[in-house]
Amino acid sequence: MRFLLRRGYSTLRLFKQSMEPLVVIFGSTGTGKSDLAVELATKFNGEVINADAMQMYEGLPIITNKITTEEQRGIPHHLLGNVPISETPWTILQFRDAAAKLISDIRERRKLPILVGGSTYYIDGLLFDDRIIKDQSADTILDRDELNTRFPILTESGEVMLKKLREVDPVMAERWHPNDARKIRNSLEIYYTTGRRASEIYAEQRSRKESKWAQASESSHSPWNVLMFWLYARPELLNERLDNRVDKMVASGLLDETAAVYDWYQSQIAAGETVERDRGIVQSIGFWQFEPYLRAVKETPESTELAKLREAGISDTKAGTRRYAKYQVRWVTTKTLVSIQEERLLDTLFLLDSTDINTWHGEVAGKGVDLTRKFLAGEQLPQPVDLSETAKEVLTAKVERSNRKDTPCNKRCDLCDSTFLTEELWQKHIKGQKHSKAVRWAKRRALARTDPRRRALVAVEGQVADPEPV
Ligand SMILES: [Zn+2]
Repeated sequence: MRFLLRRGYSTLRLFKQSMEPLVVIFGSTGTGKSDLAVELATKFNGEVINADAMQMYEGLPIITNKITTEEQRGIPHHLLGNVPISETPWTILQFRDAAAKLISDIRERRKLPILVGGSTYYIDGLLFDDRIIKDQSADTILDRDELNTRFPILTESGEVMLKKLREVDPVMAERWHPNDARKIRNSLEIYYTTGRRASEIYAEQRSRKESKWAQASESSHSPWNVLMFWLYARPELLNERLDNRVDKMVASGLLDETAAVYDWYQSQIAAGETVERDRGIVQSIGFWQFEPYLRAVKETPESTELAKLREAGISDTKAGTRRYAKYQVRWVTTKTLVSIQEERLLDTLFLLDSTDINTWHGEVAGKGVDLTRKFLAGEQLPQPVDLSETAKEVLTAKVERSNRKDTPCNKRCDLCDSTFLTEELWQKHIKGQKHSKAVRWAKRRALARTDPRRRALVAVEGQVADPEPV
């Protein structure tokens, strides 16, 4: 029995060995992904393919956090700075086709392709094909409160939201009536959380069904033998590091770049071009945050408020960067990990602990190099949870969480004016504080209608009752 099992295993390994190797590096901003890619490329004769939407834009090295020529150490980098700033970011399909072509070109040169980037939806789209686009619903990435805070328009009426949708996704807007508030909201959510139009996503789904690529990949999933690195840093320390990085960016000329984008943006407007506020290069963190300052510099250069506006821009950029890092981790845990499990690739996903910058060389570069060497030699790889304490803790918790199959539903709590799309979220809501408070409040109100003596009491309590988030 044991013999058979072992033979089964080695057959699988032989099969995998016959496929082309591909190293993939993802994780949040500020964890040292680009550095690891260069380190591996140097050691194993590799070439790097960038999978970060903003770094695909040409120029603007600071605001897009691009690796410098010096840091590239002579390693060829592809899809870096190849998109003019006047264009919208590449779609998942565009990226997938270009990256697949590059991977095979690099293999033809007998070199190792290394895919690296923070736009994990690109990586998901390449490795797992349509899985990612099937479920672009924003609810799994951000909770409702967070969405509403970030995009207040989502709390507006159907009519107001539809007006916005007409601007950003006219094709989708055509489909809805102002009364379809929930559907309009959903289309807008997709747009805000993915930076892509829902209508494009649906069109891609249709074309993918027809494409040969999809038919081929349905039977054999990823055509590559993949080794994945998830660079992870504990949030407390990462946030501190991200704050420092923003200060460094400002010191090395972030504002000159932002001003250049601002001038470009203004010139487009002046020329009558429509530039969307939430798409393309202007999405870079550090652009809108400094807009009030840049405007003041142009319009009221004598203003004594300038220094204050600049400081506000810096602190908003820091907050935006931290939020983005959190969002990237949530993407990995709610989307990428699910696909990795479905493809049974968990044993090739290694979390490298990038929390402490002082141990980066050992924990990230050292372990990464060692694993890649074993992987390329076809040696047995260690268990991912055994790599570090952080790996054990995070992988165990997140895999368990993403493993939990949520039961879809569509339940509405009129009392709290909220809709819930999974049974689990619904249960959490009706057992939660916010809901109990709303129930108590409703009871008192009902009582007050019948008992005038209670009315005054209710009015006083009503003033101090603070709505708590779920
Ligand atoms: Zn409720």
